Amino acid sequence: MEELVRRIQEEGNVLSEGVLKVDRFITHQVDPKLMEQIGSRFAEVFSQKNITKVVTIESSGIAPAIYTAQSLATPMIFARKEKSLTMDEELLTSSVYSFTKQLASTISISRKFLNEQDHVLIVDDFLANGQAAKGLIELCQQAGAQVEGIGIVIEKSFQTGRQLLEDMDVPVVSLARIDSLKEGEVSFKQADA
Ligand code: 5GP
Repeated sequence: MEELVRRIQEEGNVLSEGVLKVDRFITHQVDPKLMEQIGSRFAEVFSQKNITKVVTIESSGIAPAIYTAQSLATPMIFARKEKSLTMDEELLTSSVYSFTKQLASTISISRKFLNEQDHVLIVDDFLANGQAAKGLIELCQQAGAQVEGIGIVIEKSFQTGRQLLEDMDVPVVSLARIDSLKEGEVSFKQADA
């Protein structure tokens, strides 16, 4: 997606060879116009999959996921990282090791929001080593829901995430694919959509 690549080039900050900061338009301050374009693109790509739910993880996945869900006319569910006092029902849970926080946390979704009839599209802001997406796939599997695909806004292709997810037989569609973040420069490879 050309507009996304342009924004990363103009407004992204390379923090290290492994980490890109995009807090001006995705992860802290959010550009709704760009998110709307991202949501429409994912909806278009997965239009034949009869998606019934869009699933993401708090917090930075929520913005692209909500616009995707709006375009597909489905609900959006975000997995929580902290157990809330109001989550008093049966939960689907999984353990996720966070790339940015460097610690493991339990993520959860209320059982009542996913079932065997669901065809799920997982959406997230970044794909690094694939742990967040894998945790979300596990939650869907516990519910008996079918994961039809994964929509990623920014994939760091030099990390292991895509391989992990493809080995799980889940199609991955990334709107921007980063080849390297060496010497403070972002270099891109051909994106999926
Ligand atoms: P993974 O689980 O694939 O290893 O990492 C993906 C998660 O870590 C995403 O949900 C995202 O929040 C965070 N993440 C991974 N790499 C980056 C990065 O370079 N920049 C930012 N801002 N977040 C990242």
